[in-house]
This record gives sequence, structure tokens and C-alpha cells, in this order.
Amino acid sequence: MTAQMAGDRRSELAENLAGVRARIAAACAVAGRAADEVTLIAITKMFPAADVALLAGLGVTDFGENRDQEASPKIAEAKVRGVLARWHFVGQLQVNKSGSVVSYADVVHSVDRRRLVRALGAHAVSAGRLITCLVQVNLDQAAAAVGAHAQAKEGARGGTLPAEVPGLADAIAGTQGLVLGGVMAVAPLGRPAGPAFSLLRQVAETMRADHPSATMISAGMSGDLDEAISEGATHVRVGTALLGGRQSFVR
Ligand SMILES: *Cc1c(COP(=O)(O)O)cnc(C)c1O
Repeated sequence: MTAQMAGDRRSELAENLAGVRARIAAACAVAGRAADEVTLIAITKMFPAADVALLAGLGVTDFGENRDQEASPKIAEAKVRGVLARWHFVGQLQVNKSGSVVSYADVVHSVDRRRLVRALGAHAVSAGRLITCLVQVNLDQAAAAVGAHAQAKEGARGGTLPAEVPGLADAIAGTQGLVLGGVMAVAPLGRPAGPAFSLLRQVAETMRADHPSATMISAGMSGDLDEAISEGATHVRVGTALLGGRQSFVR
């Protein structure tokens, strides 16, 4: 890559970042919240470590990835480039990948079953790390369960039903090497995000009654971060609006 190209990419990312930060500030203002209550996580899946380094240079502190195979080498390369960041694992996680994820992730957003809690805890202890875990809540099935649009399941999106969240939260809180951070969700496809995020906020409040330090609500992506912030999101996960479309990177 030429210096000219790197400079162009840097200005493109700077412009996108300013736009996303302005959206976050506007949504916070409407919700009567301070803009620094919301942490921006740059989701860099399908973009190179060079972009991670540019965004870090622009002041982004938190980054997320959704596949271990891609995240592991990219994060290693970002470290070589001098990036000191907090890394979030936001994708569906297989038990056999949990050791690798524990080696680089500070926060795992997609904890949705007890087997994963046990595996993450065991790897965290043996690596001498403390991993913050969020319970991923499935808002698709939640809506279906209360009788709204029982549309065909997208499948493979992950998450546990709201009724099962307290048990999983207790399991995380009771596991050595893990810290219960709060909740995460992806808005259901094809339905307004607002009511789903409102349900997520209720689930988060119930969790916080039992676990006062579990204050994180990870919700909102490029298309719906404004609605998520109005429903109390503390962490927004933004890919496209920062880095551009991913289609051209699919092989
Ligand atoms: C890809 C991804 C995002 C970012 O989505 P955009 O629409 O590109 O902002 C957020 N959360 C998860 C879990 C993702 O996989």
C-alpha cells in the first residue's frame, strides 16, 4: 500500500468515525444521557489489521471480532503494529474455540450456554486471565414466545431466552476466572428494533437487581445504534458505518 492510499483510508475512517460519534452524541442528547456513557466498539471483521491501527490512531479504544479464525492472527498483527486495545469477541462461540478466544479477548459478548461458561472459566484460570462475560439474549425467540410474529427462525444467531438469563448469570458470577458484565443482543431481523431493545433493557434491569456490578448493555449496530442508546445501551458495536461495506471483501 502506498503512503497516499494509507492517507486516503485514514481520512475516510476519520470522517466515518466523526459521523458515528455525532450519531452517538445526538442519541445520548435525546435520551438525556451523557455521551461518555456509551462506548463505541469498532467491529473490524473482514477488514485488515492496518485499519485497526488507523482507528486506534484516531482514538478508538475498543475493537470487536466475530470469528476466532480471523480474530486470532489479526489481533496478533495489531499488537505487532503497537495497538493497545480492549478486544471484544461478539460472534457465536464454539466450546473448542474458547481457549483461543480467552487468550486475546477481554470481553466475550456471546455467552449463551453453561458448557461455554465452564470452558471459558477453565481456560481463563489456566491462562491467569479474568474475562468479562455478557449473556447473549435471543430477542427473536423472546418475541415469538410472547406470541408476536413467530416467523421462521434465522437460526445460528445465538442467544438464550430471557427466562434462562438469571440462571446463566448466576453460573457466570459463580465461575472463577469470569466476571459477569451484563447483557448483549442483536435486534431481530425484519421487525422494529425499539421494542426488542426495550425488552433487553428489562432483562438487564432484572440482572442488575441480583448482580449490581453487571451494568453493561451491548446493543446497537450501524443500522440501529440510535434506538439502542435510547433504550440504555452502554456499548454499541459498529462495523459498516465505520469501515464501509463488507460485501466486496467476501471471496
Ligand atoms: C458484524 C457485527 C456487528 C456490526 O454490524 P454492522 O451492521 O456492520 O455495524 C455487530 N454485532 C455483531 C454481533 C456482529 O457480528
